[in-house]
Amino acid sequence: MTSVKVPQPVSGGLLLSYKCPAECRHCMYLCSPKWPADWITSEDLEAVLSQLAGRIQPSPWGPEAVGLSDGLHFTGGEPFLNFELLRQAVEIAEALGIPSTFVETNCFWCGDDETTRDMLRHLKEVGLKGIMISVNPFYAEYVPFERTERCVRISQEVFGQNVMVYQLEYYRQFRELGIKERIPLEDYLAVAGSESLTGRVELFFMGRATRQLRGLYPTYPAPTFFNQLCQPPFLRSWHNHFDNYGNFMPGFCGGISLGHWRDLDRLTTEGIDLVEHPVLGFLVAGDMGGLFHFAEDHGYHESGDGYLSKCDLCLDLRDHLVSRGDFPELSPREFYAHLE
Ligand code: SF4
Ligand code: SF4
Repeated sequence: MTSVKVPQPVSGGLLLSYKCPAECRHCMYLCSPKWPADWITSEDLEAVLSQLAGRIQPSPWGPEAVGLSDGLHFTGGEPFLNFELLRQAVEIAEALGIPSTFVETNCFWCGDDETTRDMLRHLKEVGLKGIMISVNPFYAEYVPFERTERCVRISQEVFGQNVMVYQLEYYRQFRELGIKERIPLEDYLAVAGSESLTGRVELFFMGRATRQLRGLYPTYPAPTFFNQLCQPPFLRSWHNHFDNYGNFMPGFCGGISLGHWRDLDRLTTEGIDLVEHPVLGFLVAGDMGGLFHFAEDHGYHESGDGYLSKCDLCLDLRDHLVSRGDFPELSPREFYAHLE
């Protein structure tokens, strides 16, 4: 296979920047306060939303409703760090008729009822349909849980049913445990038990999780993952991501670019040249063994510590390759500089 057409994106997320006040141990995109404030420019905001208008499909319950993998969400990083830009993004999306829009937040900004209500009402007035509120033990290390509770309560007043708490199991558990402030992961595990991190809810071993969650989960030798398929699939129409640097990212795969989002027409009709993008060639073919041997040819050595997941191996190979050659599909380059 020398080229492949990218499926038309029907849902996804727009990263306004990679900057975030938190540095969660599981963050797929390695977001943190250390990233520069490279917010998407107003011109690029118009451009990317114009590309997505007409492509993004409404949720099964209609354009005024939301779903986790439906419509378009505004994310980061933490979008509420730049409220004016977030407001502008919502306004443009609304003017372009993009359906089922919602914002994803860690609630750090919900310090009091009045401000929280004002900001959410304002976003609703300019067209936002709903909100997704992030909850798990990794966020709880950075955001006082009473702010999360406030955000959920006031979001329900403002957006009614269009409030998604991800993950609800943890939200309920934190309330049962009476948590109010920030809580270090080790303290949480002491009260909730280590089984609270295993098997309870969905967790992707991607991004920072591959470095920060070692020791909590088993690891395996590289060949274990050579024939595993990417889950969710690498090329898909739903829940892809578009970033402030122009990258059209497949799914949740931070640090991989299918091309510039301004070239969506070409990517979806003519396709990507897989000879010019050899890393994508292996990933599209589901050939992790091939990528491993390709990286070995560029000086890579298998880690003696093993790998948590296929994505852990994939990221380690890419992190090696990005330092050994010019691979435009390994973008943004800053992503790899923040891998620690
Ligand atoms: S997971 Fe969300 S809140 Fe945590 S560092 Fe990443 S972007 Fe920030
Ligand atoms: S293995 Fe790589 S390409 Fe596949 S889902 Fe994981 S990060 Fe993405």
